[in-house]
Amino acid sequence: MATTLKYTPVDEIPAIREQLVQGFLSGKTRSIKFRKTQLLQLCYMIQDNLDRFKEALRLDLGRHTLEASFLDLGGAIKEALTAYKNVEKWAKPESPPFSMDYFPMKPTIRKEPKGVVLIITPFNYPIFLAYSPIAGAIAAGNTVLLKPSESSPACSALLEELGSKYLDPSVFRVVQGAVPETTKLLELQWDHIMYTGNGAVAKIVSTAAAKHLTPITLELGGKCPAVVDPNCDLGVTARRLLWGKFANAGQTCVAPDYVLVPAKFQDALVDAMVKEYHNFYPTGTTTTPSVSRIINERHTERIKKLMDATQGDVVVGGETNVSQRFIAPTIVKNVTGDDSLMTEELFGPVLPIVPVPSLESAIEFVNARDHPLALYVFTKDPKVKAKVFDNTRSGSAVANEILIQVVADGLPFGGIGPSGQGAHTGKYSFDTFTHLRSTLDSPGWVDFILGGRFPPYTSKKEKA
Ligand code: NAD
Repeated sequence: MATTLKYTPVDEIPAIREQLVQGFLSGKTRSIKFRKTQLLQLCYMIQDNLDRFKEALRLDLGRHTLEASFLDLGGAIKEALTAYKNVEKWAKPESPPFSMDYFPMKPTIRKEPKGVVLIITPFNYPIFLAYSPIAGAIAAGNTVLLKPSESSPACSALLEELGSKYLDPSVFRVVQGAVPETTKLLELQWDHIMYTGNGAVAKIVSTAAAKHLTPITLELGGKCPAVVDPNCDLGVTARRLLWGKFANAGQTCVAPDYVLVPAKFQDALVDAMVKEYHNFYPTGTTTTPSVSRIINERHTERIKKLMDATQGDVVVGGETNVSQRFIAPTIVKNVTGDDSLMTEELFGPVLPIVPVPSLESAIEFVNARDHPLALYVFTKDPKVKAKVFDNTRSGSAVANEILIQVVADGLPFGGIGPSGQGAHTGKYSFDTFTHLRSTLDSPGWVDFILGGRFPPYTSKKEKA
């Protein structure tokens, strides 16, 4: 049964922000010990309630528990735990490189919290995409207002219910709602806004933030290409591409949106994919718990329309059931650049294969479009990899792997241009919500050396 989400009354939103302002001004988040307690609580929040989180992901997205753990909850706990383990190191003041001129003034870079931050998250990975920025913001000493997606009500309600139990309410609050509630939030002043979602709303967020000159981080999407070279490990390529596309029913910002392949190699690739497809879904796709559901009927209808209008050849899949929010994992070959499937980010389990004459034309195809969030190349040839990496731009560039660059330790996760600005996960989440505050503390005797800076400006001083 669908969860009904209780929206926060709009007129209560300014007071919630004010409580977070007072929480910040109380100074409690300056203590690393306090931050660590909150971060540990974030870990326990999932660990103690694992089954409830899995159930919420099943209700919202029809997720299998394995996918829930692997793609959302495991990464979320890791984000909180990494911040917990590293916050002392990350928050330590840094000294700039030694300078004979300035060292007596003790130049230091303090890692200071920005203040009160607003984090707006989407429905597709509702726990991980909230946890990574929350952990970074708390580790950096901020107070946090989370606005989770109204499209994933079970997960959003759980984050609010458990957040209020596990975290200090003057440090972490949740506002629930859709456009009116988010619009109210965006009218208010924040010290940083991080928005994850689609590019159209990102423009609304950017415009609102500009009115207060608020710094923003935007984590957006788009169409991520995968370039397949005939000199690749075909089985590995087919398996990874299908998993990357069909996990979470294609509702993954770094999913391969479409595949570019030399025309002569298309059929070999498709045959390998069909073989893997039947390995993935031996009993078919309609009843297996291995296929997640689309978030709502509106998005299911949107994807169905794009599928209905394609001029490409459906190789496998193609079944839809809007009321069940079901789109069968589908492979479509002979898709052209102007096809319906190429007009927008698919965000569903439909994989268009676009045959191109050569590697060069694949690169041109990518460069004629918005810089994607991720770009994949499957090849055994280091020269092909280098050519693709060196001649394109994207948030991440990955050879022979799929999706997991997002959780690989130490790598920033972010886009470029239309796919986003700024980055998060691990230390990058901490850095996003940290102000690098330059400080000096200069002894009086320095004026024996720098006395020439004070008026009167005499010619004697000029010559010295
Ligand atoms: P969504 O519908 O859940 O919306 C995201 C957030 O924006 C929600 O909290 C929602 O309430 C808010 N919102 C919606 N309309 C608004 C408005 N008019 N004003 C203010 N706020 C508003 O999710 P979505 O945007 O459909 O998410 C899918 C998109 O997000 C895809 O493009 C995907 O690629 C991208 N995405 C990017 C990342 C990343 O890390 N780069 C991660 C996940 C998803």
